[in-house]
Amino acid sequence: MSHVLAAVAWPYANGPRHIGHVSGFGVPSDVFARYMRMAGHDVLMVSGTDEHGTPIQVQADAEGLTPRELADRYNRVIVEDLHGLGLSYDLFTRTTTRNHYAVVQELFEGMYRNGYIVPKTTMGAISPSTGRTLPDRYIEGTCPICGYDSARGDQCDNCGNQLDPIDLIDPKSKINGETPKFVETEHFFLDLPALAEVLRQWLDTREGWRPNVLRFSRNLLDDLQPRAITRDLEWGVPIPLDGWRERTDKRIYVWFDAVIGYLSASIEWARRSGDPEAWRRWWSTDAEGKDSQSYYFMGKDNIVFHSVIWPALLAGYSGEGARDGEPGRLGRLNLPTEVVSSEFLTMEGRKFSSSRRVVIYVRDFLERYDADALRYFIAVAGPESNDTDFTWAEFLRRNNDELVAGWGNLVNRSISMAAKNFGEIPAVDPAGLTEADEALLAVARAGFTTVGDLIARHRQKQAIGEAMRVVAEANKYLSEQAPWKLKDAADKPRMGTILHVALQVVSDANTLLTPFLPHSAQQVHQLLGGTGVHAPMPVIEEVEDLDGGPGYPVLTGDYTQGARWESVPLPVGRPLAAPKPVFRKLDPSIVDEELARLGG
Ligand SMILES: [Zn+2]
Repeated sequence: MSHVLAAVAWPYANGPRHIGHVSGFGVPSDVFARYMRMAGHDVLMVSGTDEHGTPIQVQADAEGLTPRELADRYNRVIVEDLHGLGLSYDLFTRTTTRNHYAVVQELFEGMYRNGYIVPKTTMGAISPSTGRTLPDRYIEGTCPICGYDSARGDQCDNCGNQLDPIDLIDPKSKINGETPKFVETEHFFLDLPALAEVLRQWLDTREGWRPNVLRFSRNLLDDLQPRAITRDLEWGVPIPLDGWRERTDKRIYVWFDAVIGYLSASIEWARRSGDPEAWRRWWSTDAEGKDSQSYYFMGKDNIVFHSVIWPALLAGYSGEGARDGEPGRLGRLNLPTEVVSSEFLTMEGRKFSSSRRVVIYVRDFLERYDADALRYFIAVAGPESNDTDFTWAEFLRRNNDELVAGWGNLVNRSISMAAKNFGEIPAVDPAGLTEADEALLAVARAGFTTVGDLIARHRQKQAIGEAMRVVAEANKYLSEQAPWKLKDAADKPRMGTILHVALQVVSDANTLLTPFLPHSAQQVHQLLGGTGVHAPMPVIEEVEDLDGGPGYPVLTGDYTQGARWESVPLPVGRPLAAPKPVFRKLDPSIVDEELARLGG
């Protein structure tokens, strides 16, 4: 057993989640965490909403809200969305907690002391008419990279690249249209070149990464430049240095604070658990954290932050770069074991776009369909290692032909027949098992090794394919054995044996599918007469800020109960009732209805 950190990218709190957001890494990280817990590992799964930065400030300005008010709204919406999908976070929190501010400032100070954060004179914008600093969000111009004509001072929303206001072509103040004047100003920079060697050594020892992620990360090291980590902005974490702490016009840059969330959320979880030092078991490089592994889940547009920036921060804080140094009070911190990046999902052949209504929000989806129907689609057809397309026709087909006609049918017919003819889990005939019985049981048992290994190696598409192969074998077995034909009293023992075998394989397949389909797995467990928690679920809790800030909702849960990753023999004689269908067959008319909802 080891300690496994499942660190999931932080959704930006400027709107509800759509299914593209949760397909790449939201659901897959939950599948991974659930499997690792079932296999006996001590898992800590953390994330939260990312709430600082210019876009939230701009949107809040437009709606006449404070940034905190806007973040409060979407933090809650996102917590509810993720809860609806059954994502089993130990803690899903947010970046506006006082705990997060303190941890971000601790990392900043530690890196600064070690010389990996350096002040640099750079060119900042001021308004010529007022002489005051012009925050990044008030400057607009043409993106020098893609030519988009409404790029902001800190970022281009079209190509996603980070910018400096001075890079913009034809910059203009959004307040009064004047051309800003650029004057010398001081900002802090992360000295990435001083950390390049330690990053290269770390990348050289990585195993099992998707090759494109490793290649991309190595290429980034060839051209590392110092990177600005403070901005002209009022909304964010204050700079924790004398002479800077009180300044309201300079803040730590949102990407610097957000990646530190993995650590601050782990610390918050530990503080809430009653053992404030417990986080060290997943993070520390000394004895207590030595067996720990950390897996970071994100979309491919975020690789740089997880394979370069975040490890650079951890190494710099630990005093491990070219300038050496001493670890801060949190001690020496582990670098990521693996960066698991997914590709993109498109919708009916187009990019997701809220403004063009090429979108389906998680909450709307869950109003009309079951969470496990979406989780199934994501597992079999999600953007694991290629960009993939969500279409309603394909969703319908996967749901009806595979989930309902394959797995749902196996559950339904085997339990119905056993309930009707025996009213309980039947015994195996003393005459024993046939070759066909043994073969099917062996296929199911072997699934624990193959499916488990594939999930551990982030090959979830193949993993669920193997689990569904067990389902297909069991359906074939039932058709061939035809227990419904064994009507005579003399044949009843053989009928009992067939149904016993079928139910055992249903139970095993259900365990294999539990990480993917936790809601229905709990139901199938109960249909087999099981009691108690099979697949634990997250809960939303309203909590106080630990350090006196405003309260907020978190997603958390007790995941110590639940099925283990093993075949459990079904107890003969356990009562069975006639089952209710676990999955819903969808009417083909939903395809046209859903397409009509999409914007042109
Ligand atoms: Zn651009």
